[in-house]
Amino acid sequence: MSSTDFSSQNGAGGPPYANGPSQNPVALQPPGPGYMAHQTPYNPMQAKGPMPPGPGLYNSGPYQPVPPVSSNQALPGQPMLKRPPMGPQHSMTPPQSASPNPGSRIPPAHATPPPVSANNYQHAPAWQYGGTPPMGAPPPMAMPPLRPAGNHMTSSPSLATPQASSAEYRATPPVFHNAMQPLCPPTSLQGYTQQGHMPTPGNGAQVPNSFDHLEMGPKMAGPLPPQQPSPPTRHMGLSYPSLPPGYQNTSAPPNAATMQHPVQPSTQPYSHPQPYQQPSAGPAQLSPSLSGLSLQSQTPEALRVVNLLQERNLLPLGPVTPPTPCLPQDLQKINCHPEVFRSTLTSIPQTQSLLNKAKLPLGLLLHPFKDLSQLPVVTSSTIVRCRSCRTYINPFVTFLDQRRWKCNLCYRVNDVPEEFMYNPVSRSYGEPHKRPEVQNATLEFIAPSEYMLRPPQPAVYLIVLDVSHNAVETGYLDVVCQSLLENINALPGDSRTKIGFITFDSTIHFYNLQEGLSQPQMLIVSDIEDIFLPTPDSLLVNLNECKELVQDLLRSLPQMFGKTMETQCALGPALQAAFKLLSATGGRVSVFQTQLPSLGVGALKSREDPNQRASAKDIQHLSPATDFYKKLALDCSGQQVAVDLFLLSSQYCDLASLGCISRYSAGSVYYYPSYHQQHNPAGVECFQKDLKRYLTRKIGFEAVMRIRCSKGLSIHTFHGNFFVRSTDLLSLPNVNPDAGFAVQMSIEENLVDMQSVSFQAALLYTSSKGERRIRVHTMCLPVVNSLSDIFAGADVQAITCLLASMAVDRSVTASLSDARDAMTNASIDSLTSFRTSVLTIQQPGLLAPACLRLFPLYILALLKQKAFRTGTSTRLDDRVYAMCQLKYQPLAYVMLMIHPALYRVDDLTDEGALNVSERTIPQPRVQQLSVEKLSRDGAFLMDAGSVIYLWIGRNCNPNFLTQVLGLPNYAAVPLNMNMLPELDTAESQRTRAFVGWLREQRPFFPILHVIRDESPLKASFLQNMIEDRTESALSYYEFLLHIQQQVSK
Ligand SMILES: [Zn+2]
Repeated sequence: MSSTDFSSQNGAGGPPYANGPSQNPVALQPPGPGYMAHQTPYNPMQAKGPMPPGPGLYNSGPYQPVPPVSSNQALPGQPMLKRPPMGPQHSMTPPQSASPNPGSRIPPAHATPPPVSANNYQHAPAWQYGGTPPMGAPPPMAMPPLRPAGNHMTSSPSLATPQASSAEYRATPPVFHNAMQPLCPPTSLQGYTQQGHMPTPGNGAQVPNSFDHLEMGPKMAGPLPPQQPSPPTRHMGLSYPSLPPGYQNTSAPPNAATMQHPVQPSTQPYSHPQPYQQPSAGPAQLSPSLSGLSLQSQTPEALRVVNLLQERNLLPLGPVTPPTPCLPQDLQKINCHPEVFRSTLTSIPQTQSLLNKAKLPLGLLLHPFKDLSQLPVVTSSTIVRCRSCRTYINPFVTFLDQRRWKCNLCYRVNDVPEEFMYNPVSRSYGEPHKRPEVQNATLEFIAPSEYMLRPPQPAVYLIVLDVSHNAVETGYLDVVCQSLLENINALPGDSRTKIGFITFDSTIHFYNLQEGLSQPQMLIVSDIEDIFLPTPDSLLVNLNECKELVQDLLRSLPQMFGKTMETQCALGPALQAAFKLLSATGGRVSVFQTQLPSLGVGALKSREDPNQRASAKDIQHLSPATDFYKKLALDCSGQQVAVDLFLLSSQYCDLASLGCISRYSAGSVYYYPSYHQQHNPAGVECFQKDLKRYLTRKIGFEAVMRIRCSKGLSIHTFHGNFFVRSTDLLSLPNVNPDAGFAVQMSIEENLVDMQSVSFQAALLYTSSKGERRIRVHTMCLPVVNSLSDIFAGADVQAITCLLASMAVDRSVTASLSDARDAMTNASIDSLTSFRTSVLTIQQPGLLAPACLRLFPLYILALLKQKAFRTGTSTRLDDRVYAMCQLKYQPLAYVMLMIHPALYRVDDLTDEGALNVSERTIPQPRVQQLSVEKLSRDGAFLMDAGSVIYLWIGRNCNPNFLTQVLGLPNYAAVPLNMNMLPELDTAESQRTRAFVGWLREQRPFFPILHVIRDESPLKASFLQNMIEDRTESALSYYEFLLHIQQQVSK
C-alpha cells in the first residue's frame, strides 16, 4: 500500500461529512450478516447469566474429522492434514456506511482553502485546522483514517478494578435499587480528585437501533435567543514593558501556580438527598447566568502576556492542569471530567473564520472507556434520546416544563416519557431534571434489547504464539504461559467465556482442547497457502469446562518447542486462521510475534537501512509495505474481531506494516525491543506487568462509538485505532480502558445564536458478562466571539496532543520534514495571530498569552521526540512505535512522552506532600529539562511515561546512596539497576512512595532505570533534555529566537 492510502485520514475519499448529529441520527448498520437484528427477544435484565449461543452463530458445518495428533508426537515430521471439504463460510459483508437520514444537512460542497501562510519557504506546510471537510462517499471498506497506536496496561490500584459497586438505577417506578456505594475513595490524580465514576463490570460501545428511523421527527426547533456574551475582561500584559531580553534563569512567576485552574469534579457523587443542581441547565437559560459571569476568573491569568525570551522557567510547580471552561458554576460542576473528554479550545469560536484567525486547531481528546472510580449505571426500560438527532438526554438539555425537554445538540423539543417522571434517586415523582441522566455528564446505561443486533456474544480469547527458533530463543513463551496460568481466573468473562490457542512457525498448529480428552491434541496444518480449520468445533472451548486441558497446554507449551530449529515464520496465515476461528462470535486475538514474517501471505522484507537511522533527511518506509494486514484487519472488524499485537524483537520487524492489523481492528500494539529473558530483565519485568494488566483489564466487545456535536459543528478526522464506519461512527470490535482517541472538528455554520455547544460520545458495547451497555459522556462548552476569549480558553496540552496526531498522519502521507515544519508553523501562526489580533500594544520580545506559554516548548519537545526527530540515531520500529503511541494513548501519557517530568529527589521532604490512602507522597517541584538543572551532588528522577530514569550525580549526597539505594558510594551503583531496595529508612520510604505513586497514575508499568555517567542509557536520558542544544537540534532559546523571527515578519 502506498502512502496515498492514508490520505483518507484527512478526509479525501472519506464519507461525505454532514454535520454531526443531525446527520446521523441514527444508526448503525448491522456490522455484518451474522447479526440478527432484534428478532431475538432478549431481555438484558435477565441476561446476566450465560447466554446460550443462538442458532447459527457458530460454525458447526460439516468437516472431515481429522485424526488428532497427540501433542507429544506433534513436532517436526508430523503427518499433514488435508483440507476438509468446505464448511459453511462465514461470509462477511463489509459494513455499510450509514445512510444519511433524510433531511440531514447537505455535505459541504467545497473545501475551505487552506490558510495561506504568508511567509517564506519554511512556512509552507501549514495546517488547515478543521477547514476541510472530507469529500466523497466512503468506499465501504476502505479508509479508516488513522494510524496505529501504542498502548499500555497494568493495574493502577486506585482506578483500575472494574468491579466495585455499580450504582444501578432502575427506572420503572416500582423496582429500583439504588446501590450507590460511594466506592473506593477517589484517588487523587494529578492533584485533583477524580470523582463521579465508578468501575463497572463491562466495557462499552454504542449500538443503534433501527427503530431510530421510525422515530425520526421534525428537526430543529427554532434558534436560541441571541446571547449576550459578557465583554471579556482583558488584562493585556503591560507588565513587561520593554525589558532587555536578558534571558535570566529565573524561576516561575509567583502566579504560575494560579494558572492551574483547579479542576472541578465533573460529577457529583450523588448521595441521596440530591441538591437540585440544574434548574436552568440548558443553553436557553444560559444568558442570565452567563451575563453575570465575567471571564474574570480566568482571563487575567490566561491572557497575561509573557515574553518567552525573558521568562525562562515557565513550568508550573506541579502538573499542568487543563483550563476550566467558562461556564456558569452549576453547569461546570457537572461537566464531563477533562480526563475523559477535553477540547483543545475550551471556548468555541462562533465562526470558522474566527477559528481560522486564531490559528489554533479545534478538536476533542477522549478517553472514553477509562477505568473510573465511580460510574453511575442506569437500568431503564426506556433510554431517553432526542427523537431527531438521537442524542442521549444529558445535563445540558433544557426542560421547558415538566413534560418537554429541548435537545442541546439539535434544539428539537421532545416529550418527557412518563417513566422518566419518576426519579429513582429521590424516589419521587415529577422531577425529571433530577434523574441521574440529567445529573451526570458521564454515566452508563444497561441497554435494552433494541440495542442489540444479535444476542450479546460471550467473551472469546484466542492466543496466537510465534514458536519459531527465534521466538523460543527469547524465552518469552515462559512468561506468556505463566502469566496466563496465573491470571486465568481473572480473565474478564462469565461461564460462557471461550478460549483457544494457535502456534505457528513455518506451519500452523491448532490445539484440540475438547472436554473429555486426556491431554491437549496438537493439529498441524502445513498448507499455509490455503489455510483451513481442522476441527472447527473443538479449537475454541469453554474456559470453565476445559480449564484443566488449557492449563495442561500452558504448562507444556514452553517445552514443546524447546529444541525447534524452525526459523521460518508464517504470521499472515496464522492470522488468517485466527480470523476464521473467531469470525462467528467475534472476540480478541492476542498475537505474540518476534521477527519479520517470512512465509506465506503477509511475508515482509527488511526495509530499514541502519545507515539512515541518524539521517537528517526524510525518513522512508513509515507507511506499510503491503495492504495485507490492513485488509485482514478490516475483515476482522466486520466480524467483531480485534487483534492485539505484542512485538518482542531485537531486529527490525516492520511495525509500520504489522501494526495495521491492530490499527484498523481497534486493537493495541505493544513493543518490547531487545526482549530477552536473560539479557534484558527490565524488559521482562515490564512485559510481565503489562501482560497482567492486559489479561485482567476490562474489555468491551462488539463496540461502536458515535460522537455527536451541536448543530453547526462537524467532525472530520479521527485519530486512534478503529475503523470509521460512517461519518461519526467508529467501529471498535474491542474497546479497552487504556485507549485514547482524538477528533478534529470544524465549524460549518456560524454559532451566532448559541451561548454554548455540546459534544456527546456514546460507546455501545457488550460487556464480558454479556450485557449490552452504553457509556455516555457529554461535555458542554461556551461559544465566544472574540479572539481574546478563544485564546483565553486554549488548552495547550490538548492542542499539543492533537497536533502530534496530525503530525503523525502528515509524516506518513507527506513526509517527516513536512510534518516537522507544520508543527513549527503551528506555534508561529498562533503566536502571530495573538500578537497581531489580540495584543493592542506592541512590545518587543516573543509574546504569548500565559495559557500558551508552554506551546513553543512542547512543539520543540515534539520535534525532538523519537517519532519526529532527525539527525539522532533512531531505529525505524522505535520511531513507528512512538507514532503509534502518540495516536493511541490518552492525553496524560502522551504528554509525558513529549515532555517528561524531571524532579530532584535526593532532598525529598514531606512539605506539601499528598496524603493518599494514609501514605505520604512527597511532591517535589517539576524542573526544567536542561542539564544545567542537574547538579552533580544530587539525584534526579525523570518520568517519561513508559520509562522512569533515576540519574545519580557523581558527587551525589552519600546519604541518598546509603539510605535510598543501599550502596556505599557512587562507584557501587550498578550499570543495570532497575529497582529501589526496600530499606527501612525515611529517605527510602519517601522515594519509593513517590515512584510508586507515579506508577499508579497510569495503567502500564514504567521501567525504572538507575543511571550514572557510565550507563548505556545515559544517552536516552540526556536526549530528553529538550531545552538543550544538540548536534542536530536547536536549544529552546534558539528555537524561540527562530519563532520570534518568523512572528515578527
Ligand atoms: Zn437532538
